[in-house]
Order: sequence, then structure tokens, then C-alpha cells
Amino acid sequence: MTRGRLLVLLVLAAAVAAFFALGGQRYLTFEYGKAQQEALRGLYERHPFQTAGLFFLVYVAVTGLSLPGAALMTLVAGALFGLLWGTLVVSFASTAGATLAFLASRFVLRDWVHNRFTPALKRIDEGVRKEGAFYLFTLRLIPVVPFFVINLAMGLTAMRARTFYWVSQLGMLAGTLVYVNAGTQLARISSTRDILSPELLGAFALLGVFPLAAKKTMDGVRARRVYARWRRPARLDRNLVVIGAGSAGLVSAYIGATVRAKVTLVEKHRMGGDCLNTGCVPSKALIRTARLLAQMRDSARYGIRKASAEVDFAEVMERVQRVIGEIEPHDSVERYSAMGVECIKGEAVITSPWTVDIRTAEGTRTLSTRAIVIAAGARPLVPPIEGIDRIQVLTSDNVWELRELPRRLLVLGGGPIGSELAQAFARLGARVTQVEMLPRILAREDPELSEMVRARFVEEGIDVRTGHKALRVESGAENVLVCEHEGREVRLPFDRLLCALGRVPNTEGYGLEALGIPVTRARTVETNEYLQTLYPNIYACGDVAGPYQFTHTASHQAWYAAVNALFGTFRKFRADYSVIPWATFTDPEVARVGLNETEAKSRGIAYEVTSYELADLDRAIADGAAHGRVKVLTVPGKDRVLGATIVGEHAGALIAEFVTAMKHGLGLNKILGTIHIYPTFAEANKYAAGTWKRAHAPQRVLAYLERFHAWMRG
Ligand SMILES: Cc1cc2nc3c(=O)[nH]c(=O)nc-3n(C[C@H](O)[C@H](O)[C@H](O)COP(=O)(O)OP(=O)(O)OC[C@H]3O[C@@H](n4cnc5c(N)ncnc54)[C@H](O)[C@@H]3O)c2cc1C
Repeated sequence: MTRGRLLVLLVLAAAVAAFFALGGQRYLTFEYGKAQQEALRGLYERHPFQTAGLFFLVYVAVTGLSLPGAALMTLVAGALFGLLWGTLVVSFASTAGATLAFLASRFVLRDWVHNRFTPALKRIDEGVRKEGAFYLFTLRLIPVVPFFVINLAMGLTAMRARTFYWVSQLGMLAGTLVYVNAGTQLARISSTRDILSPELLGAFALLGVFPLAAKKTMDGVRARRVYARWRRPARLDRNLVVIGAGSAGLVSAYIGATVRAKVTLVEKHRMGGDCLNTGCVPSKALIRTARLLAQMRDSARYGIRKASAEVDFAEVMERVQRVIGEIEPHDSVERYSAMGVECIKGEAVITSPWTVDIRTAEGTRTLSTRAIVIAAGARPLVPPIEGIDRIQVLTSDNVWELRELPRRLLVLGGGPIGSELAQAFARLGARVTQVEMLPRILAREDPELSEMVRARFVEEGIDVRTGHKALRVESGAENVLVCEHEGREVRLPFDRLLCALGRVPNTEGYGLEALGIPVTRARTVETNEYLQTLYPNIYACGDVAGPYQFTHTASHQAWYAAVNALFGTFRKFRADYSVIPWATFTDPEVARVGLNETEAKSRGIAYEVTSYELADLDRAIADGAAHGRVKVLTVPGKDRVLGATIVGEHAGALIAEFVTAMKHGLGLNKILGTIHIYPTFAEANKYAAGTWKRAHAPQRVLAYLERFHAWMRG
């Protein structure tokens, strides 16, 4: 921060400190205003211009310095100057004060805050970038976000001061009028009987209803602007059309049918989507076989001298399909039809905010609907690496069709999918090379935890190449991936290449372009906190909406999308992302909820770390799985959990206790006070809580206790 900025900041801070130190807040209370009412009125009658001028200046100072009391002063203005003059004085004073606060915030804080809190300001920034003045106008008109927060936050955006001034003045006018009006009524109270006067009750009812009415109006204005070019059909046949029958679409349809809405679910490919057919289910089924093999190879450790296995890879993959087949009925047309969902196999194209064309083998049908949920999922990303188009790339979509185990498999990608599949194929007998551009695999996790996974991979014979950037694929007598590593080229030969470099949301070819529904930089459909797209009756959830790409987050979002789509006219719910867990099913498993240390550091969040090693856990020792860690982040000095990561056997199941703790505000003391069955892996959570407790034992009290016991011994 420059010296000039620091000086301005110090002056402003000194002014605010002086206000509180001198007890300024005493004067900005309802009681004080009421007590001084007569005196102030007398002053106003004797010196109307000076009083109004002084009031104006004090108001500007209060709002300019973001001191509490602007709302009260507005009421006082009504009591003192009446509706017309009160509104005039407050309107100009509040806008002038707000603009001063805006300019001060911009001058002092903008660069600094932008460098530190970019994500926190993203929401406001995006609004300003797109609709600037309209966004501010909405914030001003609907007095939900505190006045001073808007001033300071807007100062941090790129909005012009002139725009800020006039939009603020116009936007606040209606609210000012309502408050000043309430003030004129308050002035009339002289006895408790007056409190029940219709005027006063009316003024306060207006005060309460105003934000809601303003919000409704603004929503209406916004909706009119978006829907203006479309003609709504006179009658709508359905309440909900859901596009895509993956995790998100199935749950949306399920909720719709449960509350007896008329729902149509459209799927162009296979019911169950990615999770059932090409994602979670087949990968976990494959991992199961791979794990069994690894255990057999390890059998000598358990006293079994001879346990040989002959892998029939084709049969392994057939089993994967059988597992899918067993789970299939959960997501089937039959099950959903029995629930009352109309299931159509076909490709959906949104043709207007209320109509969806379904292209089926028999032709095209047009459905009309009140609301649409887009749950179109994502697909594997295959980046345009030179030469990659000349080989048959494996992805999570087609790897399940393999019936012959690749001799040398190159897995491109060190994320969860790449890591799970790399280990599974290596355990099944392939020579696996895993290539990752970043310095480590599972880069979202803390370095020492992802290192535990890497070390195991290396132990199991996987050639882990981190810091390797794929440059090109050379195909010929031998396929080779050429990478750049520390400034030189490295050649990695392979028979098959599995690309696991992330998943791209499906946003093209089904009407988003024609409707002008925007997508984000991450290529997800842009939604607000209610999961509404640009059109308030079109929602998106699951992988297509992001920001997470898990089955459990897809179904979590689906609840919000379906409920908001069906009942949003009365009440809408904000999607809650406060506690999101996930797991990577490698061996050792890695599971996380909330913050890890890397994120806490980068976001400047104070934390304390408590770790418990699974090497000490009785059950882990008995099972030959005594490796891994429970790592918990808490608020310094408190037992409130900020996040937890578990590496080790059953980590994905164990993390559930921390998920519950975080979701329901239970601290480590509560986990410690809960009986955990002996001997289980779940005890690790309790021991982590115990480690935290010992570190926070009150040393002074313990010293006294020691003396007490000594005294008791005589
Ligand atoms: C290998 C792998 C392993 C995974 N493991 C896990 C795991 O262990 N745990 C976990 O939580 N997540 C896991 N995932 C992620 C999980 O599979 C996805 O997050 C989840 O399936 C997303 O569900 P969805 O409903 O958003 O999308 P999808 O399941 O992709 O469903 C979208 C559906 O929409 C259909 N569709 C698209 N456009 C149209 C259209 N115009 N008309 C009609 N239909 C259309 C598609 O055909 C598709 O069936 C894994 C993913 C992969 C690839």
C-alpha cells in the first residue's frame, strides 16, 4: 500500500475511532432521537436552513465513514423535516456520503483487496461486468445488502463514480421515501395508544413489505427483459422437463414425481448417465478386482504362502458390466415410470423457454413445460495434443469396452480418475506410466498426503512422471508420447493411451446457443445461487452446472433445481455448498471435506492442524493396513472443524463423521465424547479428536490437580 493510501486510511480509521471513543453512537439511537425531538424541532423552526444544512453534513459524515445510524437518521429526517423536505435532504446526503465512501474504498483498498480476496469479490464483480448500473440499481432498490457494504464493495469494482452517483440516487429514492414516511409517523407518537394508529401501522407495514415488493418488481423487470423475444404458449402440458437421466436428472425427476408434478425425463443415451455406465460404478467394480489381486500378491504377509491368481481380463470387464446390470434397475425406465415420470428416449433441444423438441427414432415431438432442468452432464476432455487424433485414445467413456489388457498403458492425467484407473490397471498386470504436468498427482490435496499415494504407486511399479507436459504423440512401429520435462524432451512408449485430463460440460447442440444462455469460463452453464440460468424457469444442475463433478453433488443440486423449479414462485432455496466431501478411491484412499492446509494458507485463513497416524490404530495394525493419516484443521484455540482429510483404508467412509460434524456445527469435543466401536477404523477420528484435546489440555489446572492429588495422598 502506498504512503498516500496509508495516510488516508489512517485518517479515516482515526475519525471512526474518535466517533466511538467519544461515545458518538449514543447520539445515533432511537431513544436519543426521541428525547431530543422537541429540542430539534424548535431549532429547526428557529433556524430552518442552518439546521437542515447541519443535518445534511452530519448525514454525509455518517454515511461517508460507514458509521451505523443512517437508517435512524432517515427516520429522524422524516420526524423533523416532514415527507418532502426529509426525502430531499436524505436523498442527496445519502448519495453524497455513499459516493465518498465509494471513492475512499476505491482509493485506499481496491488494489490491495483485489490481490487478496479475488474469489470473495467475484460475485459482485461479475454482476458489475455484465449489467453494472442495473445491478447496482437492484442492490439499492432492495435494501437487503447493507448500505455501507454496497458503497465499499462497489468502490472495489471498475464502476465509474458518476454512474455510481446517479444510480444510487435513483435506486435509493423509493426506500428513502418509505423510511422518511415512517419517520413522519414516528414523530406523532406521544402515547402507547398512538402506536396502534392505522397511519403508524401502515407506515411500518410499508417498511417491512418494501424490500419484498422491490425485489419482486426487479425480478419481474429482469424476467420481462429476458423473455421479451419469446411467445409463451397459452397452455403448458407439463410442470417439468428434465434433460438427461444421469445422477442430476434422475433425482430432479424423482423429486418432481414425488410431489405429484407432471414430469418428463429425456435421455438420449443410457439411463443412469455417466455414474452408472462409465463412471463411479464400473470404476469401483474394476478397483474391487484389482484390490483383490493386490491382496493376493501380498498374501505372504498374512501367513498364506501360496495364493496365485490368473487374471482373465475379459472376464474382469464382463463382471464390471454385470455389476452395472445389477444396479441398472435403480435407474431404469421401469422404475421411474412406476413413480409417475414420463421417460422418453431421445435427444432434447430447447426451442424456447417453455418448449423442448424431442428427437426420437420415430420423429420429433414438441413438449411444452413450465420449467426445464438441464442435467446434460459432461464428457471426457481430449486436448488437441499433436498427433493424438492419429491413435485410438481411451477415455473413461470407452475404456470399459476393452477386453484385452494393454501391455503398456500410458495414463495421461494425475487427477482422481487418472489415478484410480492407473492403479487398477497396474494391479491387473499392465505396465502403467502415469503422466502429470503438475509437480504432483492428486494436486488438490495437501502435498504430504498426495505423496503417500505417489509412494504407494511407485512401490506397486507404476512409473509416475510428474512435471511432464505432453507435447505430441508419435505413432508408427511404436507409439510414443513426447513430453517436456525440465526443459528437455522425454519419450514415453506405450501401447494404449488413456486420457484422463478432466471432463467438459455438455453445453452445445441442444439450444443454449439459440436461447443465449451463457456459459462460464469453466464452460459450465451459468447459474445463480438458485441454479437458475438466464431464464428464471430454466435450471441447470450436476456436471453441466459445476463447480463440482461428483454424483453426490449432482443429486444435492438436483434437489434445489427441482424444488425451485416447481415451487420457486413461493419460495426459492439457495444451493448450499458449505460442506462438500469427496473421495479418491485409490489405495490408500483419500477423502476430504472442507479446507485443507494448502487452501487455508492460500486464502489467509487461520487454522490449527491436528494429525493422527493410522500406524497407531489397533484395527489398522490387525488388518495390515497401518498406514495413512487423519488430518484435521480447526479454528485456532477452538474445536470447530474447518476441514479434514483422511488418507488410508476406508477413508471415503470415515470422512462421513467429519461431514456430519461440519454440517451440524459439532466440534472435536463432541466427536471425542462419542463412543466408537473397538476395534474399528472409525476410532481414528476419535483419536484425532483426542490428540487435539491433549494439545489443548489446561496446563495450569493440571498443575493444580497434581498438587491436589499429592495433598490427598497425605
Ligand atoms: C471414471 C469416473 C469415475 C467417477 N467416480 C466417481 C465417484 O467415485 N464418485 C462420484 O461422486 N463421482 C464420480 N464420478 C463423477 C460422476 O460420474 C459424475 O459427477 C456424475 O455422473 C454427474 O452426473 P450428471 O447427472 O450431472 O451427468 P451425467 O451422468 O453425465 O448425465 C447426463 C446425461 O444427459 C444426457 N444428455 C446430454 N444431453 C442430452 C440431450 N440433449 N438430450 C437428452 N439427453 C441428454 C447424457 O446422455 C447423459 O446420460 C466419476 C466419473 C468418472 C468418469
